[in-house]
Formats: sequence, structure tokens, C-alpha cells
Amino acid sequence: MAILQLKPGRQKSLLRRHPWVFSGAVSRLIDGGISIVPGETVRIVDSQGAFLAWGAYSPHSQIQARIWSWNSDQDIDERFFRVRLEEALTYRNSFISSESSNACRLVHGESDGLPGLIADRYADLVVMQFLSNGSEYWRKTLIDLIVDLGNFEAIYERSDSDVRALEALPVRNGILKGRIPVDGIRIYENGVDFWVDIVKGHKTGFYLDQRDNRAFVRNLARSRSVLDCFAYSGGFTLAALKGEARDITTLDSSSDALQMAKENLRLNGFEPGIIEWIEADAFQTLRKFRDRDRKFDLIILDPPKFAPTAAQAQRAARGYKDINLLAFKLLNPGGILVTFSCSGGITEDLFQKIVAGAALDAGVEARIIKRLHQAPDHPVALNFPEGAYLKGLAIQVS
Ligand code: SAH
Repeated sequence: MAILQLKPGRQKSLLRRHPWVFSGAVSRLIDGGISIVPGETVRIVDSQGAFLAWGAYSPHSQIQARIWSWNSDQDIDERFFRVRLEEALTYRNSFISSESSNACRLVHGESDGLPGLIADRYADLVVMQFLSNGSEYWRKTLIDLIVDLGNFEAIYERSDSDVRALEALPVRNGILKGRIPVDGIRIYENGVDFWVDIVKGHKTGFYLDQRDNRAFVRNLARSRSVLDCFAYSGGFTLAALKGEARDITTLDSSSDALQMAKENLRLNGFEPGIIEWIEADAFQTLRKFRDRDRKFDLIILDPPKFAPTAAQAQRAARGYKDINLLAFKLLNPGGILVTFSCSGGITEDLFQKIVAGAALDAGVEARIIKRLHQAPDHPVALNFPEGAYLKGLAIQVS
């Protein structure tokens, strides 16, 4: 087995059980002349040769290894992955009841001890993503185990996330098992039905991570005039409808997204005509609303990732500030802004500072009424704070 040796003093993050080894920490790969395949398991040792962890080797990535186990006696084999997957599935079954939803994230990468692996369940189907060389190396094993452990009718692969390029992995999409239902995949979540497009939709098809926040918005919506900004397939719009909002304006720049949102309204027995649909850029539209003195009682801002990594944080911060500043100006007195960032590069603390700056510049007094996060089927391992990517604030203006 090949050995990945770290530079002196660079073992600290591994001793705290952070699951990534950055290329700058690596001193050398000792492969004994047998060339190593990307994703193969390596024994990671400190500069003195002492064991630190077993990890998956990723030669082309800035993250040169991702840790499978810190236990020197652990074999990284089918049995190992079976146990990890069983734990992940048991955890989901323990708190997402089949009455509340038939869709959830089954495996959330590093936070389930399975770096680079995502598996999302939509009704009887699972969508898998292999986002690292390690998960790619064990791909067949992982697929067989998901088939074996869950009673799923079909498995689909959506390995098309940008992060695969960072690992020098090509895009790969397609059916792994069974067939995709011809009339679409239908899920339910807290009494609302949705169509999910696993082939062309965002992520694996749906924003499962917003489940609890949709329920929260539903409880806020009654008799309010609502703006759902960055609406995608209408998750928050349907929450507001179910919560008996007075009127709803739904905005997205993508016509496909709004088409899906309309289909989702019909699926739940609502006529799309009851919504004001706007297919346009959010920044421009909010500015237009401001100039026309248009007001709302509840605004949801759920923009796409402005900063995938910390390096883009500064430019992203400007985007978040602009959009939140505009939203504050559009709120009636007592109105509520529910604002999110799913950028890995923006911490919760920084996001709050940006939003506070936006309120100040908008000239509003405001207070946080709730802090929002990704739903618990997207857990955050304490040794992997990067796992907490979705942060939100519900803010009421005076
Ligand atoms: N709130 C949604 C998820 C939003 S994803 C849910 O709960 O399901 C982000 C959405 O923002 C996408 O649908 C994308 O089409 C849209 N978007 C991206 N840039 C935009 C822009 N500049 N103006 C308006 N919408 C935009």
C-alpha cells in the first residue's frame, strides 16, 4: 500500500480529524514503484512516519486526500462502506417519517464519513453523485451497496457537479439501475407534492435542504403579500400558498424553473393564474420595484451560490449586500425578510455582518427572529465545519 507522508508540523488538522489533506501539507508519496490509481487508499503518516489516517488519494486535486478512517486497524473495503451506509440510512429513517416526506438526502458526503458521496432519495428512486476520486474509485461497490441496502426501484447518476473538474473527473450522467418513470418523479413534503427533474434539474433535482425552512415560511405567510425571489421550482411559493398568503409574486431568471413551478402549482390543485410570475434578473427587478415604490410583507431571497469557495467571498459579499439592501427597501413596516446564502465561502458570521450592513444602508431597524440552516438530513460533522453551507436569517423590520 502506498504511503502519503506529510511535511513536519502539517499533521495538526488531521489530529483534529478534519477529513481533508491539502497538497501544501504533503511531503511525498511513497508508492514502492507501483503506480497508484487515483482514488486508491493510501496510508497517511506524519513526517516521523507515525500513522494518521487512511485516505483516498487524489493526485490532481488541491485536496490530495480525503479521509476514510482514523483507525489504523480499519480495512477500507466493502464491509467498511456497508457499515457507513447502513449508519447513514438508519439515521435518516430515524427522524424523517414517511408521513412527512418521501424525499431526503441519504448520504451527505464528509458529514456521513463518506467524502465525495451524495445520495438523494426521491420516492422510489435514488440519485447518486460521485464528487471525489475516492468515491469514484469505489463507485461500483457503493452503487451495489445502495441497491442492496435500500429497496429502491431505480438509481440514477448525476456526477455533473463542477467540483468533479477539480478532481480531474469527467461528467457522467445516466441510469444505473431500473427505469425512470416516464410521467416524471413525484415526491411529497409536508403535505405538498412536487415534480422533480432528476435529469436536468439543479443539484440532484430538488432543494431538499430547504425543507424545514419552507415549513417555517408557510407559518409566516398568512394574509401577507409575498415575494419569492430565486424561486426555482416554487418550493417557497407553494409554502406561502399553503400558508394562505394574500398574494404572491414569484421571480426567477429561468423560464424552465418557472415552468416547473407552474406545474407544481397545478399538481397541488392551484391555478398558476393566482400568482404574478416574473421571468427576469432579480437585481434589476428589485431595483425596478424600489423605483416604483412597490412593497411586500414577506420576501424570500434564496440566490444561487455566489461564492463556491472562500476565494470568491469578497465579490460574493457585494452581491449579497446589494440584493438584501434592495429587499429591505421593499418591505412594509413589520415586514419580514427570509434571506439565505448557500455559498461555502461565506460563513454564518460573515453573512450576518453583510445583512446587517445592508439594513444599515437601507435605513431600516431590524432584528433576527430566527436563524435558519439546512435540514437535518444534511448534517454537519463537528470535525467538518465546511459542511454547514446553508445559512439563513429571518429578519423583521420595525
Ligand atoms: N428557492 C428555491 C431554490 C433556488 S435556486 C427552492 O427552494 O427550491 C436559485 C435560483 O435562482 C435558480 O432557480 C436560478 O434560476 C435562479 N437565478 C439565478 N440567478 C438569478 C438572477 N440573477 N435573477 C433571478 N433568478 C436567478
